[in-house]
Amino acid sequence: MDQQVDGSAGHPEARYGGAGRMSDATVAAHEQAAAALADFVPAANGFSGRDVPADDIFNRCVRCGLCLPTCPTYVETMVETSSPRGRIALIKSVAEGQLDMLSPGFVHQMSECLDCRACEAVCPSGVEYGKLLEPARTQINRALEQQRGPVRNFVRHLLLHVLFGNLAVMRVVSRLLWLVQRLGLQAMVHKSGLARLLGMQQMIELAPRVSDKFFVARDQRWEAKGAKKATVFLHGGCIMATAFAEIDFATVRVLQRAGCEVLAPAAQGCCGAITVHAGDMDAGRELAKRNIDAFERSGADYYVINAAGCGSTLKEYGHLFHEDPEWHARAVRFSAKVRDVTEFLDQIGIDENLGRIETTVTYQEPCHLVHAQRITQAPRNLLRKIPGLTLVEMNESSLCCGSAGIYNVTQPEMSQRLMERKAKNAAATGASCCATANPGCQLQVQAGLRREGSTMSVRHVIELLDESYRIADAVPAPATSRGTPATR
Ligand code: SF4
Ligand code: SF4
Repeated sequence: MDQQVDGSAGHPEARYGGAGRMSDATVAAHEQAAAALADFVPAANGFSGRDVPADDIFNRCVRCGLCLPTCPTYVETMVETSSPRGRIALIKSVAEGQLDMLSPGFVHQMSECLDCRACEAVCPSGVEYGKLLEPARTQINRALEQQRGPVRNFVRHLLLHVLFGNLAVMRVVSRLLWLVQRLGLQAMVHKSGLARLLGMQQMIELAPRVSDKFFVARDQRWEAKGAKKATVFLHGGCIMATAFAEIDFATVRVLQRAGCEVLAPAAQGCCGAITVHAGDMDAGRELAKRNIDAFERSGADYYVINAAGCGSTLKEYGHLFHEDPEWHARAVRFSAKVRDVTEFLDQIGIDENLGRIETTVTYQEPCHLVHAQRITQAPRNLLRKIPGLTLVEMNESSLCCGSAGIYNVTQPEMSQRLMERKAKNAAATGASCCATANPGCQLQVQAGLRREGSTMSVRHVIELLDESYRIADAVPAPATSRGTPATR
């Protein structure tokens, strides 16, 4: 019988043991924070124009502090300004003209926040923290454009607009990275110490191993197996389609098997999560329009996504367009049809003719699934259906792993601390596999486990279901570039 330890440790209301962990790093963070207080200077620049953090949101905060123990940066630092309550107070101060938006301390806090939304999930006053942070970052970004200089603005434009704005460009860049990896150049740079010298060690360590075969949406239509329950639009994603393409292919197979006709319209694009989190809501809106339009034209019943971070952005297109009378209603209609693949499969029911996988699995909850979308049980329900699979809960399963989009690049130190904490919690379960539902988490947890010296594999929930079906059908595993079966 499957062993299921109660998931309370992973519930958003769980409290993390931050207090009492006053490591050297924590003490250093205290000192840094104290120094940073000097960086909060009186107002000169305030919020203005579009995308201003709304006062009816930050004024809902009654400063009760219930969110503090759920905040990864607070439990790591125990510093008020690194907590949700502290950050909300800072945003309010800028909005009320008491604090300069470009104060180094304010800019740092808006950047150090992971946008994990754990605070939002437990707030009794219903403070929608994400709707404060993303506009605040956008305001900072617009103001910094004047100061950054043309080269840095151009690099940012290349990344956010050209790379994420065009899946064909993403595939070309990914293929180049694939070549570098297959020629062994990445490993060589890493081992030679050059990566450390260039300050790129973590970036290289976390670079995804690019898939041999990409998932390219070309208006494919895959028939449902058995009686058809729904027609779904599959969002292939950008990172997912190139670095984890096998998960996209597995998603098609699992959806077909659940009775879905699957469409992959070529007109789709990146969801905009990275750009919105990076404080470029205008670029995010341009990407969103493309997906809304593609979905409306497709005739599909649902828009299904297998990456939690993208899913939460797609479900919030309504808010992204709340100041745009032309697109708002379309965006709200679109978001109402978006489903995370685990949520969707749990709702419509899967083919339960599953093969046996004798293994112990623990589940790492992606923040944007558990906190932003409040989906906790669906992935666990699916895992528990696999015969022979034992699900054991890790401590702090819903505490952010430190991936958070490009956070591991912008805030490497905090990202590493959270990565190590997550890897230790996962390894302590003794499981042979860590399941998750987001590519960023997959990379981060994998890197953390490697550093811990653990051989635990990290798989998407859908990969485990797909493997189970292959075992049931006695079909050999497809060749993948990753080669991390659940059973070792
Ligand atoms: S839980 Fe909500 S109301 Fe309480 S301090 Fe946090 S954000 Fe403010
Ligand atoms: S979003 Fe996450 S990191 Fe940011 S304040 Fe809330 S709990 Fe803390």
